[in-house]
Amino acid sequence: MSFQTLGLSEPLVRALEAKGYTTPTPIQAQSIPILLEGGDLLGIAQTGTGKTAAFVLPSIQRLAESAKRVLPTHCRMLVLAPTRELASQIADNARGYGKFSKLSVATVFGGTSLNKNRQDLSRGVDILVATPGRLIDLVEQGFLNLSTIEILVLDEADQMLDLGFIHALRRIVKMLPRRRQTLFFSATMPPSIRELADQFLHQPKTVSV
Ligand code: AMP
Repeated sequence: MSFQTLGLSEPLVRALEAKGYTTPTPIQAQSIPILLEGGDLLGIAQTGTGKTAAFVLPSIQRLAESAKRVLPTHCRMLVLAPTRELASQIADNARGYGKFSKLSVATVFGGTSLNKNRQDLSRGVDILVATPGRLIDLVEQGFLNLSTIEILVLDEADQMLDLGFIHALRRIVKMLPRRRQTLFFSATMPPSIRELADQFLHQPKTVSV
């Protein structure tokens, strides 16, 4: 199986080739077709399985296909991650896979300058990768507006609950349009995660590796 047969476009396949990736991992093979169709997804997968590319690649393709100019302080895709390290890694991946796709990527997390975040968001970005606390600060200060989000990704959802982000997550999801694509990744699926997934996702397909 190849990335082309999964339906990925030429700019993405080229970016993958530049990294030397020719064969999709199991989570990629299962998730990419569902996500390209716009469906919601509950992915049960650990780090190291290739899950980042599994959600970044089809999302870039969908955003690029319906190219829209993003408004100042707005964004089109929001990826929430529990830690700054993970947020940086996801943003680096998005820049790498998206290098032929002309989409902008920004990352915001606590412990960095709010003013720098404000500058990065002022013209709007296609893909924003954030930790929940800093994201809420930016919305409250009027530097970011979440009303045009088309795709929401929650990565390492179990970690986010362990770190006490549940209230922040609920607040953020309330600010998003109801009509959106939602992706939820977690290494484990305890009842608390399943309950959250039931609330945030709409008729999701489940993929487990
Ligand atoms: P992740 O699970 O997203 O943290 O990815 C684990 C590692 O696998 C990262 O270093 C990726 O760059 C790499 N990777 C992702 N997809 C592939 C692939 N299809 N073939 C080889 N390596 C990959």
